Amino acid sequence: MIKRALFLDRDGVLNVLRRDDYVKRVDELEVIGGVKEAMEILRHRFDHIFIVTNQQGIGKGLMTEGDLALIHKRLLEETGAIDKIYYCPKRKEENSFDRKPNIGMALKAKRDFGVNLKESVMVGDSWSDMLFGKRAGMTTVVVGRDGLSIAQQYPYLVDYCYDNLLKFALSIEG
Ligand SMILES: [Mg+2]
Repeated sequence: MIKRALFLDRDGVLNVLRRDDYVKRVDELEVIGGVKEAMEILRHRFDHIFIVTNQQGIGKGLMTEGDLALIHKRLLEETGAIDKIYYCPKRKEENSFDRKPNIGMALKAKRDFGVNLKESVMVGDSWSDMLFGKRAGMTTVVVGRDGLSIAQQYPYLVDYCYDNLLKFALSIEG
């Protein structure tokens, strides 16, 4: 059986993006309206759902792995249906293979869960997410405030564009 996965970026897709900053503590986590409803739909449409997130705030020493674990515990409680959260704590300058737009996290999910990346979907709110998805062979969906301009600027990286995760979920609700 071919297993289809949904890969979700975190900041700007599941929780409100803090511009030029990071979600460093649980009380800075604000889940976007409609995400819970979206997850209720999406969990029936995919075999697995993963979060793939760059968290260089750790590499910069602005937060710890422990802080992130608490934030992710809360996020899982609020969203449900997430099989695993993959994150890269490395700073951009370190050029980690696990840091998006490099595809290390997609390959880890493929290895861990046996998912078929060509049948999988990446949803994100940035150019980097779209490049990650395309490099991994996935269908890409851009959401968020900058979604439309990203889709127009990088048409070869973006397959679909929606205002937010709930709109995407409703579009594939069966
Ligand atoms: Mg993002």
